[in-house]
Amino acid sequence: MMVNVAQRVATERVQPIMDRHPINQPLSKQAMLEIYAVLAELGITAPRLPIEAGGGGLRMLDYGMMIEQLPPVVALSLISHEGTIARIHHGCSPDIRDRYLPDLIAGRKIACTANTEAGAGSDSGAVRTKLRMDGENAFITGSKMWITNASVCDVVNVSCTIGTDANGRSMVRRVLVDRSEVEFEVRETPVMGLQQGHLSELVFDETRVPASHIIGEVGDAAKTLTLAWNGNRPLLGLMCVHLAQKAFDLALAHAKEHRQFGKPIGAHQLVQQDLADIETHIVTARLLCYSALDAIDRGARANGTSAMAKRYATQACERAIHLAMQVHGGMGISQEMGLEQMWRDARMFQVPDGMNGILALIQGRELTGIGAFR
Ligand SMILES: Cc1cc2nc3c(=O)[nH]c(=O)nc-3n(C[C@H](O)[C@H](O)[C@H](O)COP(=O)(O)OP(=O)(O)OC[C@H]3O[C@@H](n4cnc5c(N)ncnc54)[C@H](O)[C@@H]3O)c2cc1C
Repeated sequence: MMVNVAQRVATERVQPIMDRHPINQPLSKQAMLEIYAVLAELGITAPRLPIEAGGGGLRMLDYGMMIEQLPPVVALSLISHEGTIARIHHGCSPDIRDRYLPDLIAGRKIACTANTEAGAGSDSGAVRTKLRMDGENAFITGSKMWITNASVCDVVNVSCTIGTDANGRSMVRRVLVDRSEVEFEVRETPVMGLQQGHLSELVFDETRVPASHIIGEVGDAAKTLTLAWNGNRPLLGLMCVHLAQKAFDLALAHAKEHRQFGKPIGAHQLVQQDLADIETHIVTARLLCYSALDAIDRGARANGTSAMAKRYATQACERAIHLAMQVHGGMGISQEMGLEQMWRDARMFQVPDGMNGILALIQGRELTGIGAFR
């Protein structure tokens, strides 16, 4: 029932908002707020929070099956938003929670998390953005890049360093920055896919925030990010599954209708093999992602399983869309069919929350007990 509702809401209420805007430009803040109001009604703006805290209290598997139904641009924005809500809920004082969570859960405000920097991507703990404490205030200086939602957000959870420990590693702290209170620079970054979404660079220059906006404890940023990533990775895999399934549906219909050599191309054996391969890629990707989410629901840390699911799903779905384009011949590369956009969108997911090389290393570390990162 939840999947059916999510599918109907996505088709009848979310997609029409997106269709009113250019397909290759970031959606306006107004459009995003309209979409968030719908997501709030669906009960998935805070799926990982308990019901008593105003959240959805959903199992990760149920949430993942709903995420799979949403347009990927919206789904990616949502996991940035709701992941930040979860961090505020778990790491902030009751005052801060009461001040921000109701509007964020109702979709009246949008949140995001900024960790990545030029030298702190895969090496997420190496952040250099500085946090300087001064009594009741804290000051942020540094820059972030590739931040989902940043240009349309109201609050951003920024990872900063307060110095290095005895081993030379950054001591990372997270700070909630409220855009209605302080100015900082935000520049949208044009990219190949998910072009109605928002990816930006942020620049902080002695940006003043109240010390009460610091989230959690010293050193817990990496741990919190890891826990979020384990859940997010299969969700990102399912966003690719959504795209590959759409491509497959088009390819199957095309194979039955389009004719060459006097019969439908679907009656030629090699085209049937392409269709069989596409379906196999999609079904295996979907099941691996479901299995990782189910493992998390059963209390497993699921480090290796989540990494395996995202790496496999992003690659298999990219291949599936490529094959669906092949089945379409010339039409496969036309903008009219939308397959080239699905392929560009799917390619985007090989980067966030662990590049595929890094995900292989995570799985390898789980298998061998030996880290091969440094
Ligand atoms: C759509 C999208 C949304 C995003 N959203 C956010 C967001 O909301 N918040 C945020 O903070 N960030 C976000 N990011 C940033 C993303 O998390 C980083 O881009 C990603 O972690 C990779 O970092 P990088 O770009 O610096 O690449 P690098 O880490 O420099 O990687 C470059 C290459 O080197 C390889 N590599 C690196 N280290 C090793 C190693 N030890 N061994 C072997 N190979 C290695 C990688 O696998 C990769 O192939 C987003 C990115 C995208 C594309």
